[in-house]
Amino acid sequence: MVLSVVSALALAAPVYAGKLAIVIDDFGYRPHYENQVLAMPSAISVAVLPNAPHAREMATKAHNTGHQVLIHLPMAPLSKQPLEKDTLRPDMSSDEIERIIRDAYNKVPYAVGLNNHMGSAMTSSLYGMLKVMQALERYNLYFLDSMTIGNSQAMRAAQGTGVKVIKRKVFLDDTQNEADIRMQFNRAVQLARRNGSAIAIGHPHPSTVRVLQQMLPTLPADITLVRPSDLLNEPQVDTSTPNSAQPAPTAPRNPFRGVKRCVPKQPLEPVYATRFFSVIGDSISNSTLVKYVQQQWQGWGKKV
Ligand SMILES: [Zn+2]
Repeated sequence: MVLSVVSALALAAPVYAGKLAIVIDDFGYRPHYENQVLAMPSAISVAVLPNAPHAREMATKAHNTGHQVLIHLPMAPLSKQPLEKDTLRPDMSSDEIERIIRDAYNKVPYAVGLNNHMGSAMTSSLYGMLKVMQALERYNLYFLDSMTIGNSQAMRAAQGTGVKVIKRKVFLDDTQNEADIRMQFNRAVQLARRNGSAIAIGHPHPSTVRVLQQMLPTLPADITLVRPSDLLNEPQVDTSTPNSAQPAPTAPRNPFRGVKRCVPKQPLEPVYATRFFSVIGDSISNSTLVKYVQQQWQGWGKKV
């Protein structure tokens, strides 16, 4: 009798629970809103800019309230804009990159992972990301790819190292309009449900904080909030295309240098797209057409 009740309960439980990780970036500048994030469930994780004025204080506070801490490391974007101190560039030496990551590791206590702030130029450089992965391996940090460019080389660069790479699926707050943020939150939930897991990234904006305060208590029963590190062993699909491992400083001047890359505007990704690409066989997914279509779906040129 007891057994049959137990098995009935087991059958009633949702079979395909989706795991959702939420990371709030750009910590260290706005303690007022960041404290509101730290009052949320402890599975909400935070990424701290190492040279922000409140970096150490907020990382310590996050850790003490049970939140996972990441280093939010500035990396060079393709677009020209003001850069944080110690922004990683592909042409930096291994020693310089190691120094910056060591410095960040010392300024952001309790960090177990690292994700990129901006970084479309850096993460699309295999040459640059190989040096980053060497340093991350030394500090035993995982890499959360913010996916600010479709053709990120992070996963390719991590091959053969002990560094685990996971990827952002949804940006919650490209706009600070609450209705848009709610829609993005629901997309993240749907992706987690369909793919088994999803990672969403947001920022400590007042509107994002309000939406999370509203929506987290009513999270569907089949969705479990997890830390990004809980997803390190989830199956990952590398959708990048290879680029050259070494720049060629002695090569003749490339007449096409300086030509701006075409960064297509990205439509909102319907929930089925990720699932669609994740089930496509490797041989087909390597075709030029599929790459092109994928790039249209992915977060090209987005800021983080
Ligand atoms: Zn950022």
